[in-house]
Amino acid sequence: MLIFCFSFATAQNGYWQQHVDYTMSIDVDVESFSYSGEQSLIYTNNSPDTLQRVFYHLYYNAFKPGSGLEAASRNAYSDKRNMSKTLLSLDKNDWGDVRVVSLKQDGTLIKHETKETVLEVELITPLLPGESTVLDMSFFVKVPAVVRRAGKNNSDGVAFSMAQWYPKLCEYDDQGWHANPYLGREFYGVWGDFDVTINIDKDYTVAASGYLQNPEKIGHGYADLDPEVMHEEKLSWRFIAPDVHDFSWAADPEYIHDVVPIKDGPVMHFFYKNRPPYLKSWKEFQPFAVKFLRFFSDNIGRYPYEQYSVIMAGDGGMEYAMCTFITGSGYADYRRLLGVTSHEIAHTWFQFLLATNESKHAWMDEGFTSYIDDAALNEALGLNNVVPNKGAYEGYLAWVATGLEEPLTTHADRYKFSRGYGASSYSKGSVFLSQLGYIIGEKNLYRALQLYFEKWAFKQPRPYDFIRCAERVSGLEL
Ligand SMILES: [Zn+2]
Repeated sequence: MLIFCFSFATAQNGYWQQHVDYTMSIDVDVESFSYSGEQSLIYTNNSPDTLQRVFYHLYYNAFKPGSGLEAASRNAYSDKRNMSKTLLSLDKNDWGDVRVVSLKQDGTLIKHETKETVLEVELITPLLPGESTVLDMSFFVKVPAVVRRAGKNNSDGVAFSMAQWYPKLCEYDDQGWHANPYLGREFYGVWGDFDVTINIDKDYTVAASGYLQNPEKIGHGYADLDPEVMHEEKLSWRFIAPDVHDFSWAADPEYIHDVVPIKDGPVMHFFYKNRPPYLKSWKEFQPFAVKFLRFFSDNIGRYPYEQYSVIMAGDGGMEYAMCTFITGSGYADYRRLLGVTSHEIAHTWFQFLLATNESKHAWMDEGFTSYIDDAALNEALGLNNVVPNKGAYEGYLAWVATGLEEPLTTHADRYKFSRGYGASSYSKGSVFLSQLGYIIGEKNLYRALQLYFEKWAFKQPRPYDFIRCAERVSGLEL
């Protein structure tokens, strides 16, 4: 039963979030698929707590036999155990590796210990509330084969698909550190600015989060090359991404780079292999990608950056800062690309801008994204479906019928079955929004999403923060 009420569910009070600014420079060896890097972080502790330690994610250490990722798959309930089989069969040359060469706090070497995908660091000077510290790291990375999302030579032959490619500071919030070992699903990061320089062989076109700072010295479709510039063996690409919580890039010597400005919106960039059948399909879907971005901008909240890139890279589709990686091989016909493109662009809102902890609340990013990507497809393709997310209801109900459903509070890495994770986070999350729309009305549902964006973009909301928005626009206690 519903009652009208004047006392509401509790949203996060006294909210704070940590802040980190990254300056990184890497030197890529395209022959050995490795790079050495220098990283300087300015980490600001906005919490009320004194921090004695900090943690980093070292994701690529998961991509080798015997890792936690491999063991989790080997011991999974699902009888497929594909991840384990893939990792166990990797040639040693294709294992990933992240080595921390040195680490300093404010100029002094400090102790650190690599525990597979997590780096534990003892600060010599505890970081007091409201204070900042500088962490300088030298590191070396060997790029793994693409096993999950990132790596070298993906199924389309894209040389570098570089997601989660750098030592990445773990998030600390009012629930403490989130230094989870990487088991294959979902992310959570610290908001800040990224200044990234990538030195790579001059034949490679680099696509990345952030704005290229020296386009006239680079060319490669970003700008007309300054005629005075003679390219050396390597080019130095400098990107700045402001107000993000991650940074990704991809590079390939065969990328075509199309630039599509949107009226009153960002400039869209498309990067894809110069090979059939992509030449046709990756042109044909571009107007739809523009429509999707517009739909989300109009219905949730204005896209806040000046650039968005759709990059052929990775495996399947995955969302990143100011860009997405989508494979070509699975989607040769442009119509097959539309669903994944709508989904990945929608993720810019749910979870990139509304940066929930995906591991804990996967339904808030995958579910909300699934709901809104179906709505965008319905409009952009003129489908006129009365229930655009009918598939989500069907998927969820079919899983419920198995009797194997687990609670939505299950950690994303700890679902017993992949299908259960999918049905819960994608389908049930989508069903949650449409059921909410049934209760408060579709107009109020969109108003709730807009208020949620207004209040929580560039932050890290939790379930009650959204519910509170739905209560405020509807006047109901939910
Ligand atoms: Zn998704």
